[in-house]
Amino acid sequence: MLIPSAEQIEANLLRVRERIERAAGGVGRDPGSIGLVAVTKGFGPEVIRLGYKTGLHSFGENRVEEAGPKQAALVDLPELVWHMVGHIQSRKAKLVAPAFDWVHSVDRLKIAASLNRILEGSDRRLPILLQFNVSGEPSKSGWMLPPGAEMEPALAEIAQILNMPNLEARGLMTMAPIVPTPEDARPIFRRLSQLRTVLREAFSMPFPELSMGMTDDFEVAIEEGATLLRIGRAIFGPRHE
Ligand SMILES: *Cc1c(COP(=O)(O)O)cnc(C)c1O
Repeated sequence: MLIPSAEQIEANLLRVRERIERAAGGVGRDPGSIGLVAVTKGFGPEVIRLGYKTGLHSFGENRVEEAGPKQAALVDLPELVWHMVGHIQSRKAKLVAPAFDWVHSVDRLKIAASLNRILEGSDRRLPILLQFNVSGEPSKSGWMLPPGAEMEPALAEIAQILNMPNLEARGLMTMAPIVPTPEDARPIFRRLSQLRTVLREAFSMPFPELSMGMTDDFEVAIEEGATLLRIGRAIFGPRHE
């Protein structure tokens, strides 16, 4: 594993922030309305600590087993915000709920029910995002809703999630497929934004967040309305997975 230096992270982050500003400016959006979640899977707590020193506070992990030891090693850092971005196995929900501030990857009714049940009786409302599979790839998680798909079954499940007292649905999330050029991901991001319109109309709720855009496609995601970018390699360099 190549461990990036503080200087590299700082330089990378500067470039990422410039790219965010340019993309936002191009479509008349305020770059301040676009949040950055630094995805640190594959990197140890020392790298997260370097990122924190350069001003990052929100970090994303995709496996709870990997995140746990890192979180334990970083408890001294104030105001860290942890985002779960990966698929959660049902039996892991009890580990996820207490350890994360946000869950982007609520991809089925069952996992929402598990997270809610674990928080039952507490005064915590966990901010969640509903994950959609808009590309229709079978390997991807989330409600499968490519263009033309029947909305009703998903809407019925989402209605149940919106009634769970310890969860707070803040928006939608998707993963674009691996495509030859970032432009090819645009229809995916646009579709997620359209699904938000459907949810807003169905439930009269704002769903303010759209979590979409990663290292290879985040400018296009910004143009299509992303409010939370999940970026790993552009900040920390390549991972071995
Ligand atoms: C790894 C990962 C990212 C970040 O990917 P990069 O290509 O490194 O920017 C974003 N979202 C999820 C769900 C991930 O697993």
